[in-house]
Amino acid sequence: MKAQPLASHYINGAYVEDDHGRSIEVIYPATGEIIARLYSATSDIVERAVGAARAAQGKWAKLKPVARGRILRRAADILRERHAQLGRLETLDTGRVIQETLGDPGVAANAMEFFGGAIASFYGDYIDLGQSFGYSRREPLGVCVGIGAWNFPIQIAAMKAAPALAMGNAMVFKPSENTPLSALALAEIFTEAGLPDGVFNVVQGYGDVGEALAIHETVAKVSLTGSVPTARKVSGVAASKLKHITLELGGKSPVIVFDDAEVENAVSGALAANFYANGEVCTNGTRIFLHEGIRDRFLKRLTERTKNIRIGDPLDPETHMGPLINKTQHQKVLDYIAIGKTEGATLLCGGGVPRLQGFDSGLFVEPTVFVDATDSMTIAREEIFGPVMTVLSFRHEDDVIRRANDTQFGLAAGVFTRDLSRAHRVITELQAGTCWINTYNRTPIELPFGGYKHSGIGRENALAALSHYSQLKSIYVETGDIANPY
Ligand code: NDP
Repeated sequence: MKAQPLASHYINGAYVEDDHGRSIEVIYPATGEIIARLYSATSDIVERAVGAARAAQGKWAKLKPVARGRILRRAADILRERHAQLGRLETLDTGRVIQETLGDPGVAANAMEFFGGAIASFYGDYIDLGQSFGYSRREPLGVCVGIGAWNFPIQIAAMKAAPALAMGNAMVFKPSENTPLSALALAEIFTEAGLPDGVFNVVQGYGDVGEALAIHETVAKVSLTGSVPTARKVSGVAASKLKHITLELGGKSPVIVFDDAEVENAVSGALAANFYANGEVCTNGTRIFLHEGIRDRFLKRLTERTKNIRIGDPLDPETHMGPLINKTQHQKVLDYIAIGKTEGATLLCGGGVPRLQGFDSGLFVEPTVFVDATDSMTIAREEIFGPVMTVLSFRHEDDVIRRANDTQFGLAAGVFTRDLSRAHRVITELQAGTCWINTYNRTPIELPFGGYKHSGIGRENALAALSHYSQLKSIYVETGDIANPY
């Protein structure tokens, strides 16, 4: 299986190669096969990409917003037309099952449509000042850098590019070196849709390339999706140059299931919150707080339905779960499972590495559920980023709110109950930026997305994202004479 792109980087509307960079092997996580070989960007490539973005940005920003939006909406159409091919590419890159990845180009298209449409009505204000007046303008920041994680590569690239470009910025995007392919496909699509050369560029690379971009004098803003340790580094170098930042980071999100919850829906929510995308999702609700009154009914259905999860060939449309992204992540997840056992949690199901015919080198982990866990256990405190659910018990509302908030993270939270007053009361108290009542992991483009505490700074999606890719200019207009004592 091969997925070799024409070259490693996409700059100024064309593929560019520079084989002086460190080599990047792109591996299909289901088989261990090398599907492409790329090169990390050299400093020359970084300069060319940033230079192309700077040269293109001014003219792009001068287009009417509706004209910029039209190009993004054309890109949306192409993304939808090519969803089968792009979904397959995403499966080869990430190992996520085709059943899921076929939907990813549509999610990217939603971002293009939303921001392509919204930008024409995202303008400043008229401010009445009596004798005179003021107005404000939303202006682009200039050259923005996007740095992506490896779990949803095309979605992450689109969620950053769409608002940035709609607002009149240019972008240099660096995907994770684990999943470099679909950002290149997106760059090609932008060109086909009529985006002027240089407005969206892709450079490949490891962390050092991300850092070189984040610190670059020409760059006005950095938007990172990644882990907390990387965010500390990126925001450190960005702060040293006083750049704007958006950080979308990890989580250890709570899902609270009260005893009046509809059991099947609550179980569906918990399964989606832990096993979708092999559990490699930043918003995952990995701490399931179960009210004692629903515990037995919930766990019975959870066990039955977890055992129905089909794990195997990611390209088979019937498969529910594929392999994890790489060996490091695979080992990390297995280590957490071992720690969970050692610290005294009870393994309800999963916990092993399935043996799958034809996938001897695949990085699979069974969907795993721990029960009888306590808040202080490592599996209840640290982000695992794999298919591992931890179930905790509670009796009182006040107590579960306190426990749910007892984490450095604050990305997401969910509540399952039929009691509407309780649902809103509890959600109000939860320290998380993205919350759900009676569902989980739904992130439509219309709703702002982001985290509290160590889960992030700024917001993606919705009009909030346009604010984060713009700066506000206030203009005072005098219509009379100037009163002056001198
Ligand atoms: P990392 O933080 O390891 O990497 C994220 C990106 O940053 C990669 O492109 C990486 O490059 C790059 N990078 C690494 N070091 C630096 C540096 N010093 N300067 C600039 N860039 C750097 O995260 P993962 O890719 O492992 O993704 C998993 C993490 O992302 C999890 O913690 C998860 O919760 C979070 N995440 C958050 C989401 C959200 O929207 N809130 C969504 C998805 C994931 P390279 O890959 O080459 O190291």
